[in-house]
Amino acid sequence: MLDLTRPEIAFMNGVLREAAALARAIQAASAAHSLTKGDYSPVTVADFAVQAVAAHRLRATFPATVLVAEERAARLREAEQADMLEVIAAFVARVIPGATGAAVCDWIDEGAGEPGDDFWTLDPIDGTKGYRRGGQYAIALARIQNGRVVCGGLACPVLAENGDTETMGDGMVLLAARGQGAWQAPLSNPDTAFTPLAVSACTEPSRARIMRSYESGHTNVEALEALAVSLGIPKDQCVLMDSQAKYACMAAGGAELLFRLLSPAQPDYRECIWDQAAGSIVVEEAGGRVTDLRGAPLDFSQGLRLAANIGVFASNGRLHEAGLAALAALG
Ligand code: AMP
Ligand code: MG
Repeated sequence: MLDLTRPEIAFMNGVLREAAALARAIQAASAAHSLTKGDYSPVTVADFAVQAVAAHRLRATFPATVLVAEERAARLREAEQADMLEVIAAFVARVIPGATGAAVCDWIDEGAGEPGDDFWTLDPIDGTKGYRRGGQYAIALARIQNGRVVCGGLACPVLAENGDTETMGDGMVLLAARGQGAWQAPLSNPDTAFTPLAVSACTEPSRARIMRSYESGHTNVEALEALAVSLGIPKDQCVLMDSQAKYACMAAGGAELLFRLLSPAQPDYRECIWDQAAGSIVVEEAGGRVTDLRGAPLDFSQGLRLAANIGVFASNGRLHEAGLAALAALG
């Protein structure tokens, strides 16, 4: 049973819900300000606002904790970003009264901690492109101890119930703790009890539903098609989705296979820890399996990226060996 009185679990539940509400409010206000990071991915008002709030709450709740989060405030501190910072601070002040631009920058930079033996990792808006497009996105938070994820949670503000990959929904929060299972509740009502998540019972590869990034530049579309063919999976069983919402769907039984193949344009890409930590424990605690593309366990002891792993392969467990064999045959 998930112990909602455990401080880490209660914290994740509260902060993920608060962050989801904030991300929605910013989207509704179409606060379209964004600036371009060095890697040309869009950073929105929401990424900064959510990181500021979550980092501030984490510090207030667990003062000694280390946070490793995706965003940095350096660009926001520049004079030409004053307008954007003002917009961000106004949204943050809705939940933390009196928040100033300077304070917001400091809270964001609380996330510049060094990954060590015990830290939290946060992706304030995972799937920023999905968020801007009106697709799936997630707020992802996890605690890592000695290279292993010990608890994690996702808020998926437009996810449907029961891992349904075909429709948009009213949003779910998913929480997992090592050895305690993975649990879900609707975002819409904080009083609704959590129910256990369980991966699909499918054991027949040709009936599996495959998930991959919506962004074709984040994967290898040709190799993925070849994998589907070798497993006997028809094209219409392939689902494109942004963010760790894919792990949420898998944990709820809505899909069986999730491949993060390397893009041919970026063969040296290594996954960021905040893109995988929460999603992986949610799937594992729902009964699934998560490895890299060669079957090695994910090693979160390597710093900001999963430097010792190549790509990610997640499954309902029952189809993991079949998926690894298909990957090996692909070369
Ligand atoms: P997804 O929507 O599953 O592709 O996940 C979004 C995440 O993919 C972003 O948070 C990025 O950190 C990450 N990403 C960016 N570039 C790449 C890439 N070339 N290959 C894989 N993932 C990437
Ligand atoms: Mg991300």
